[in-house]
Formats: sequence, C-alpha cells, structure tokens
Amino acid sequence: MSIAIDGPAGAGKSTVAREVARKLKITYIDTGAMYRGLTYAALEQSLPLEDGDQLRQLLDSIHLSLYWVEGMQHVSLNGIDISNQIRTLQVSKHVSSVAKHPSVRERMVQLQQEMAQTQEVVMDGRDIGTHVLPQAQLKIFLTASIEERAKRRYNELVDKGETADLEQIKKDIAARDRMDSEREIAPLRPASDALMVDTTGMGINEVIDEIISLYQCKVGGEGV
Ligand code: C5P
Repeated sequence: MSIAIDGPAGAGKSTVAREVARKLKITYIDTGAMYRGLTYAALEQSLPLEDGDQLRQLLDSIHLSLYWVEGMQHVSLNGIDISNQIRTLQVSKHVSSVAKHPSVRERMVQLQQEMAQTQEVVMDGRDIGTHVLPQAQLKIFLTASIEERAKRRYNELVDKGETADLEQIKKDIAARDRMDSEREIAPLRPASDALMVDTTGMGINEVIDEIISLYQCKVGGEGV
C-alpha cells in the first residue's frame, strides 16, 4: 500500500501526509527533506549549484538518511541531525536549483523507491505520483491558492516568534513553484490518475479526513 501526495510549495503536504500516515499506522516519507539535505550539504561546501555532476558526486559521497522519532521524520547528514538546518530561508531559496539536475533526481528517486519497497508509505513531494510511485494505490494532488499558502507559511513563522514578510513569502513560493513546474525532468504536475484536493478555505483536519475517506473508498472501507 502506498499513497502519493504531490503539490506546490506550502500546500500543507507535510502536515497532511504525516497525519494520514499516523492514522493509517504506516511510514511517512517527506522527499523534499532529501533534496533540502543535499542542498544544505552543497551550500556548506560552497559548491556551484549549477553543476549537476558535482552535486551528484556529493550525494554519492555523503550519508544522508531519514529516521523517525515518534512519527516525526528527521534528516541526518553524516550522522548529524540537520532537521532544523534544512528549513532555513537560504535552503528554501536554493533547493529547486539543486533538484532540477537529472543526475541528482535519478539517485533520489532510486533511494525513495527502495524505501517504499520494504514498507507501506505515505510519500509527499512533487513527482511521487508521476515518477517515484506511479503504481501508488492513491494519488493526491494537494493545492491551495498562492495567497492562502503564503498566509499559512507567514502564520507558521510568526507562531514560532520569527519575523516574516507576507509579500516576500508569496514571491518566494511563486518562484519555487515556477522552477519546479518548468524543469525538464519530472516537473511538478498531477499524475493523470491523481485526485485533486484544493485546500483553500479548508482546515487541516478537514483535509486529513478528506484524504482518509478517499483512501477508504479506494480500499473498500478497510484499513483504518
Ligand atoms: O516539499 P518541500 O517544499 O520541502 O520541497 C523542497 C523542494 O525540493 C521543492 O521545491 C522541489 O524543488 C524539490 N522536490 C522535488 N521533488 C520532490 C520533492 C521535493 O523536486 N519529490
């Protein structure tokens, strides 16, 4: 059993995917964290982000791994937890440049497919339904208006006591979506058999319930 959740930045994929996985008692895999981890490592080493070969060599030489503590996914780089470091504005700004390289994506997809082979997963990202798990039993494309996605990010930052600029967040999200949608390899787009869920105006619990009920329809009411 695998569930693929794709969609643009800030659509709430991570929160929704994590909660759906918790309810179904299966593993949640946030693939964006892997691209972020590589971006963090590349920035640390001041590598040119336009050079796909160097980024692939870096990916092959580091130990980037995902692990879970009470359902929360953590990312470690060479044994050090970098879960917070991968969420900085700097990493967010550069991650799409790293993720566009075919040689990087080839290895990332392989790693993601290996993880899904040995366990049931809810996986979120940009190309899960189209490339990573084209056989997933349930594919969701989660979206929301750019205004709402930016507002959610803004509120998250303000709740954490950080300063935030709504207009800048909106610009950053739009730029990332544009790069992710326009790249040549595995661009952000719904799989032909994905179910579209527009979360504009919906609360997070409503979205989670909606996905669980779509899942129940697929599996005939069993499994929760
Ligand atoms: O999901 P998140 O916003 O953390 O993803 C960060 C970035 O990683 C995306 O903007 C995209 O460039 C890249 N990504 C990707 N394919 C995935 C997951 C993320 O290209 N499956």
